[in-house]
Amino acid sequence: MQEISKQELDKKLNEGLPTLPTVVTNILNTVMDEKSSIQDISKIAKVDQALVAKVLKIVNSAAYGLREKISTLEHALTIIGIDTIKKLFLSISVFDNLVMENQGEYLFNKTQFWCHSLSVATVAKNIALDIHYKNPDEAYVAGLLHDIGKILLEQIFNEQYTTYLKNLTSKPTLSPSFEKKFFSSNHCLLGKLAAKKWNLPPSLQSAIGHHHGEKNANFQLTPLVAIISVADFICWTQALGSFNLFSQPTLAPQMEEFVEIKKLAIEPILEEMNRELALNSKIFNFRITDLKDTRKALQRANLELGKINSLYEEAKKKLERHIQELNILNKITYQIRQPLDPSQIIDKVITEISGNFGLNRIIWFSVDSRQKAMVPKKVFGEFQNIPFTSLGCKWDEEVCAPLVACMKTEQIVYLQKNASIPSASERLLHLLDSEAILLAPIRGGNAITDLLLIDNSKKIIMVTQDTLKVFEVLAVNIGMALENAKLFHQTAQMAIVDSLTNIYNRRQLDRSLENESLRSIRFKQTFSIALFDIDYFKMINDSYGHQSGDIVLKDIAEIIKKSSRNIDIVGRFGGDEFLVILPNTPLQGALIFAERIRLIVNKYGAMRKKIFPQCKISLSIGLAEFDGSLDTPERILNKADKALYQSKHKGRNKVSYL
Ligand code: GH3
Ligand code: MG
Repeated sequence: MQEISKQELDKKLNEGLPTLPTVVTNILNTVMDEKSSIQDISKIAKVDQALVAKVLKIVNSAAYGLREKISTLEHALTIIGIDTIKKLFLSISVFDNLVMENQGEYLFNKTQFWCHSLSVATVAKNIALDIHYKNPDEAYVAGLLHDIGKILLEQIFNEQYTTYLKNLTSKPTLSPSFEKKFFSSNHCLLGKLAAKKWNLPPSLQSAIGHHHGEKNANFQLTPLVAIISVADFICWTQALGSFNLFSQPTLAPQMEEFVEIKKLAIEPILEEMNRELALNSKIFNFRITDLKDTRKALQRANLELGKINSLYEEAKKKLERHIQELNILNKITYQIRQPLDPSQIIDKVITEISGNFGLNRIIWFSVDSRQKAMVPKKVFGEFQNIPFTSLGCKWDEEVCAPLVACMKTEQIVYLQKNASIPSASERLLHLLDSEAILLAPIRGGNAITDLLLIDNSKKIIMVTQDTLKVFEVLAVNIGMALENAKLFHQTAQMAIVDSLTNIYNRRQLDRSLENESLRSIRFKQTFSIALFDIDYFKMINDSYGHQSGDIVLKDIAEIIKKSSRNIDIVGRFGGDEFLVILPNTPLQGALIFAERIRLIVNKYGAMRKKIFPQCKISLSIGLAEFDGSLDTPERILNKADKALYQSKHKGRNKVSYL
């Protein structure tokens, strides 16, 4: 169906929006005016004798079942009362002037529409009375006119509206937004536009325009809008919609701010509605929907409601679960931001994932791209003792394929037995004796550095698309936390390590010497230091360039480091000098240590002879032992320096001590 453009709509509105006869406006105002009197009714009657004749005919009809014949309006007023006469004036004039005007042979069922309007009017008035709304008659008028936009849609768009209704039978909704799609407007907006043109009070305009409760910043919800909206909803639930088509009624939740359905005296309201409907069916000569039809419609409604309710329950459960997952995500992210030690981060992640998601087996792999392997860093939970969990796997092994795919695609992978998964994945599940696993790649810098395998030993992991998203974010956060820890570690290292030789720098040596001195005094344990200086080092620089000098410095640093124990503190003291602090070591021990290194460096020098034929690489070494509480770091350094000088003096490539 061709949709109607905004311009086309404006054109049609200019031509087709009907005017309202003054008499109808007067009647509307009289009905809504609580103070209106018999004189006001008489004034209207004088202008529209045809209307009076119609009202008298109805009053004398079987609908009212009066014994005596009423021939004047005054008489009618005394017998059936001003309220009923006002209502008759109103409904007949609206029906004649708005509803039956331009009667077409279209799908739109005006009888049905009118039946709905009268029902909503009655229910609205009774709700108004129930909640003590200031003007129940205004609610009645608003109810009668609330859907007038549908008549206008039909009047303005004729066959197009019929086509629309035909299409609608196969669509699940009658919503105003659906109308808007086709007509660039909807029955609420059109009704409101007309109400404005007819100079109806603003309260009526907004009740007509907003009874479907669409969200609109310019619209202020009023009690009258809520009354009409709830009345409309109640009538739909009673199979008294304005169409034959069945559509699921919805009530905007904000309406209950003014009208709480639970608190309404719903039975008397429905009884009154039925009574009025029966009377109106006689007045307007329409057939009320058979009870059987109503029941059928209600059964369908119930079925639909049941379906919607179950969908709602499911959506609610899903939403609750997702909120819980997001909370966990938040908590874990917070937890892993704190530690700066990667192994602590790993421990936290594992504890939190297993504790919060109830997942009881996790393997943390680190990606070793040099060896092309996944190496387990941490294994949590009970796995069979298989090489996969203790040694990991090489990338080219079949069971490693899912892990490699996860690393390459950088996507979370969820593998479940019996789903159509590749055989390598089947094999991995089989190997782990697991029903389902989740693989999460962890990016550090510009590569995947780690990979998490999460499993629930034999129990299916409850994984939704939302869960996968949560794990995706979690993996990114873990990656960032690890990266931060690494950076922190690097920065901390930079402050204590010499960048050329990768051993401690002077500052750290001073600090360590201070600590070792204090420890020695406190625990009465001695320690020694060895100060090394490369002999004729300048010659290497001068003959072969600074870069060659650097290489020799690095090599000697490595030799000293490798020849020391783990607890020895090895550092570059400055230039071509190295210092080693030997905790818990007396001078004799230091002598053996120094001599060993001197010889190794001699060998190294001999090996390098080919490259540096003009230089003979060797070390002069000065040793000193810490002399308990009499010594200080400066003093022991002084002693070692003096000893070193002696070694130089004695011809270099020597070990001396004081
Ligand atoms: P000796 O100790 O046997 O008396 O003679 P030497 O030639 O080794 O004399 P000295 O220890 O005084 O010389 C140290 C030289 O080390 C001086 C300096 O140019 C060089 N040097 C200091 N730091 C670096 C460095 O980082 N790289 C290189 N290539 N050379 C350095
Ligand atoms: Mg030197």
